[in-house]
Amino acid sequence: MRLVSYLRGEAFQRGIHPPEEKHTAALPIRRLPFPPRVVVPLMQHIGKASRALVRVGDEVVRGQRIAEASDWLSVPHHAPLTGRVEAVGLRPSARGPWQEAIVIRAYPSATQQDLAGKPQDLEAMSRAQLIEAIRDTGMVGLGGAAFPTHAKFSVPAGAEVHTLVVNGCECEPYLTCDHRIMLERSEWLLAGIRYAMRATGARRAIIGIEDNKADAHAAIGAAIARLGTIPEGEIHAELVPTKYPQGSEKMLLMALFGAEIPAGQLPLALGMVVSNVGTLASLGELLPAGRGLTERVVTIAGSGVKRPGNYLVPIGTPISWLLEYAGAPEAKAKEVILGGPMMGQAVASLDAPITKGVSGVLVLSAQELARREKAKVYPCIKCGECVESCPMGLNPSMLGMLAARREYETMESDYHLFECFECGCCTYVCPSYIPLVQQFRVAKQILRERKLAAAR
Ligand code: SF4
Ligand code: SF4
Repeated sequence: MRLVSYLRGEAFQRGIHPPEEKHTAALPIRRLPFPPRVVVPLMQHIGKASRALVRVGDEVVRGQRIAEASDWLSVPHHAPLTGRVEAVGLRPSARGPWQEAIVIRAYPSATQQDLAGKPQDLEAMSRAQLIEAIRDTGMVGLGGAAFPTHAKFSVPAGAEVHTLVVNGCECEPYLTCDHRIMLERSEWLLAGIRYAMRATGARRAIIGIEDNKADAHAAIGAAIARLGTIPEGEIHAELVPTKYPQGSEKMLLMALFGAEIPAGQLPLALGMVVSNVGTLASLGELLPAGRGLTERVVTIAGSGVKRPGNYLVPIGTPISWLLEYAGAPEAKAKEVILGGPMMGQAVASLDAPITKGVSGVLVLSAQELARREKAKVYPCIKCGECVESCPMGLNPSMLGMLAARREYETMESDYHLFECFECGCCTYVCPSYIPLVQQFRVAKQILRERKLAAAR
């Protein structure tokens, strides 16, 4: 399939250009001091919760496996700290409901080196063994989706993958962790891409980078040149015009190839697999060492933070600890957003931990919050702005009206509600401040619950 990005001179249809606010882009990744305690939820990914392997009182070393996968769509978890298991039980999650988690209290004198990993010979591994090794790292999509990486890279019998698409768009305002990873960890990224190509059988990898990160494109281009010829195939870095929500798989494939993923299907339908740069750079670091995922890069930003930046954060670090270190100790839960301002959600409790899928923590001022969550909602004036902005070609205005009338089944059957991937463009442009995307989330949840009840 031919690349079309700059040949077409446009990205994908519709979408928006919110203010970028990427003030942390020039700040190198720094390690956050280890917190005195971490909370490792057993459910940090799409799929089934993992099973705890430790009990209260057990001593654990950093990198040790503390939870095992419970089925194929599940991953193990590893101790982010050397210390003692203080509790295994329910703890608050960022979204509200309490979840089963392992609480570890750090030994203050421990060096916190990861000594649990065992170097492994990846060259000698078959594709199936490589998938198993990826699963052993506990890796999930670090771009926010948190889908188990080994499951994504497992190509079903009869299917074929020719292209690995590497997502380096990072189109959400404020977030810059992927940008810094591309600049500072390009060798690990290329190593991870090669493992992913071997695991999926792809002979070509295309790294899609938005043109507001030209320095990352140049750094990766130089790293590809240093790498030279590789047995796995070819790796290219491609610029795409900056536009939100290009970081979504559908939009990125449209921007790079002019190719549309059929409704309800995955990139696999086009012979492609999409993975984020942070995920692949972590794989490139962890796989050869036989280590598990114990930390990730998180952007901390927003005008409520005195020391914004990109921090290397142990998984399970309480948000409150992060905010204290970054200079926002007085932040209230309603001002703190996990992820970007477009798709992220306000946290329910600052005691909740950073999990594998969290790419950003934003502390927004009252003014920034007002831009995101308008207090007063006016009636729809049928201006059509939301229709013009929807990258999926949906009719958010009609969906909003149906949601208000609680006609959820019609939203699904006639207006393709489940094609909405909650990018928030329609809400952003609506002059009446109608919380469209919030209404769509609720409608989907109600429909899912009704279907479950009917199945029972
Ligand atoms: S309807 Fe869904 S996909 Fe379309 S703009 Fe709104 S949130 Fe995005
Ligand atoms: S943007 Fe808002 S006011 Fe305009 S048509 Fe859509 S829902 Fe109505």
